[in-house]
Order: sequence, then structure tokens, then C-alpha cells
Amino acid sequence: MISFNKYNFSNSKALIRVDFNVPLDDQFNITDDTRMKATLPTINKILGDGGAVILMSHLGRPKDGPVEKYSLKHLVVHLKNLLGSVNVAFANDCIGAEAIEKASSLKPGEVLLLENLRFYKEEEKGDKTFAEKLSKLGDVYVNDAFGTAHRAHASTAVIADFFASDNKMFGLLMEGEVISAEKVMHSAEKPFTAIIGGAKVSDKILIIENLLERATDIIIGGGMAYTFIKAKGGNIGNSLCEDDRLQTALEVLEKAKQKNVAIHLPETSTIADKFAADANTQDCPSDAIPSGWMGLDIGQKAVGVFSEVILKSQTILWNGPMGVFEMEKFQNGTKSIALAVAEATSKGAFSLVGGGDSVAAVNKFNLADKVSYVSTGGGAMLEYFEGKELPGIAAIKKA
Ligand code: AMP
Repeated sequence: MISFNKYNFSNSKALIRVDFNVPLDDQFNITDDTRMKATLPTINKILGDGGAVILMSHLGRPKDGPVEKYSLKHLVVHLKNLLGSVNVAFANDCIGAEAIEKASSLKPGEVLLLENLRFYKEEEKGDKTFAEKLSKLGDVYVNDAFGTAHRAHASTAVIADFFASDNKMFGLLMEGEVISAEKVMHSAEKPFTAIIGGAKVSDKILIIENLLERATDIIIGGGMAYTFIKAKGGNIGNSLCEDDRLQTALEVLEKAKQKNVAIHLPETSTIADKFAADANTQDCPSDAIPSGWMGLDIGQKAVGVFSEVILKSQTILWNGPMGVFEMEKFQNGTKSIALAVAEATSKGAFSLVGGGDSVAAVNKFNLADKVSYVSTGGGAMLEYFEGKELPGIAAIKKA
């Protein structure tokens, strides 16, 4: 597999799959350009080498062909601003005569943005003919869209088959994601602690099962912890619980025992008399929550135990908040865990934070630059740690 930085793009046309699926307001203004900024190093390296760049992406979920709301033309002006004095052209269709003409007349140092790939149903279907048409637009394929790496779409996976192995590669953003994820998955230094939080056991069960094969410690927090605590016979009051997952929870605990993996559940919780920012709260053992009350955050004792585990770890994977961190009264657990992860990182641990809400949490507490890697690929990262092969990664690695 080719390393992006070692490739000289001089005089080549690089077709880059980016993730420009940015939020737009009613006036088509971009309200968060993080995803566009994240891929600038990849674009700039190619332009700096004297290559030309053809960008392709999806935007939103158009159901039936082109719609104004999901046109990538709304991104052109902002892209120009981000790139400085670079020519950015736009093709009103991602395939067809206009795209071919604009791609072939593109000069070194110039950028062409193609219209939304998902205006064609063939994109999500992974249609080969559509992928081949796209592939003809460039002579090198670069995948920089980790967020869609778990999809076997035409532009994220199928297209790679139309490029020789020395003409397809990850972009810098995707390379960073893959290197970090592989490090945790395949060469984690022990002790390896996985911190899994969030609302539901059912969403995280596959990741927990896979981590039972790899981690030394698994910390379980957030709403999902109460299903485990109830399964063990605790009283959880009105806390979140998936009654159809009680057996699953017991099986996980049993498997962990057999595999010598320590599962840490919160001994105490911050409980509330209603799910609201102005609820009355108190600290309480997590297995003795009175009826009418619910656990909305891990308690002080749990923060202490969890932090100790985190601080002795050499590798940390964090997905999902410890409580309802969106409300100030229930943010202490998530914030304390974020601080512990940051401290462990400063002492030499490798920490990977991924999944929408844990990323939002480290950003909220200004700790994103204090952890080793913040993954932008929510669903893709989750599937990777469930042990699945991601089509977007496999397609590039395939000879
Ligand atoms: P997830 O998307 O599964 O990672 O879940 C994240 C959501 O879980 C966040 O919006 C949190 O507010 C919510 N959450 C975390 N802890 C709890 C809890 N103890 N009770 C209810 N919701 C929770």
C-alpha cells in the first residue's frame, strides 16, 4: 500500500473522496465546517506537489435525484476561502460530459468540486458502472472520508478496483484514523482500558464483545450501566434499562470473568428525581436507587475508581459519555473521566476518543488536544471496533 506523503502528485489528477457532508442552514450557509477543514492538509499536499484535485462527496440524504437543498455548489465559495488563492471550479453533475470536460481541462494547482454523488442511486448501491465512470475522471484515487468507510458505496470502495495498487491510497485524514484505530485494535500496549458509555446496551453490545478479546479493563458508564446493575440484582429505580438485555448483560459479565477482563460498573451514581436540568439530585449507591429516582451520571466514588483504572492504563479507547453531560448537573462524571484520560495521555498512554457524543464531550471540556487522537468517524469507528472489516479500508489495501 502506498503512503500518501511519499507519493509525488506532480502533473497528476487526484480524485479524492472527501466527507463534505456539512450542516447547512436555511440560507445554505455552512454552520460547521470541521469536515472541510479536516481534509485541507490532503488537498494542499497534492496542490503543493503540482497536482490537480477533483473532489467528490455526498451531502445529506437526497432520496430521488438532484435537489437544490443538497447541492454541493453551496460549498464552493467557502472552499475557495479555505484554500486561499486557488481556482475552484464546480461541475453540476458528478459524471457525464460536463464533469469529463472540466476534469480533463483542469490544470496543476486547480480544484474541481463535483456535484453530490448521492444524486445517483448507484452511489449507495455500489454500482460498478457508476464507479467506473467516476474513476475515469482522475488518475490517482485518494480516500479521505473515514466517516463513510463502513459503507460499500461506489465512491468509497467499489471505485478502488479501477485503480492499480500504486495509484490508490488513503488521504492524510483517513490515514491518521486508520493508524490510530489499528494501533488500539491490534497492538495495544497493556493495560488496555476501554471506556464505554452512552444510552443503550443494544447499541454497544458488539463493541463490548469484541473488546472482551482485547482489553484488560472495561469501564461501563452512562445509561447502559443500569441494565448491568439490574441484571446483577440491584435496584435501579427509574433509571434507563433495557429489560430484554438483562440476560445479555449477565453473559457479558460471565465471559469477562472467564477471559480475565475486569468490568468496572459505577458503584455510585448521581441520581435525579426527574430527567431535567433543574431536578433535585443526590449521590447514591447505583444498586440502591429509590423508586421515582434515576441515575443520570456516575457518582463521586465511581469517578475515583474509574480514574484510578484509567491512570494505570497504557492504552485507552473511549466511546460514549458517562452521564447526561448535556445538562450541567450531570456533566461531572464525563468531565472527570475526560480529565483522567487527558492526564493518562500526558503520562504516556495512547488514547483514542471516538463516537459522536464522546467527541462532543472532549470538545465541550476543551480537552480535544490533550488526548492522542479524536476520531471523526462515528459509525465507521464503532463498526471497526466491533471487529468488522470496513469496505473503504479493505478496498485500498487490496492489491
Ligand atoms: P450514545 O449515543 O448511545 O453514545 O448515547 C449518548 C446519550 O446518552 C447522550 O445524549 C447522553 O445524554 C445519554 N445518557 C448518558 N447517560 C445517561 C443516563 N444515565 N440516563 C439517560 N441517558 C443517558
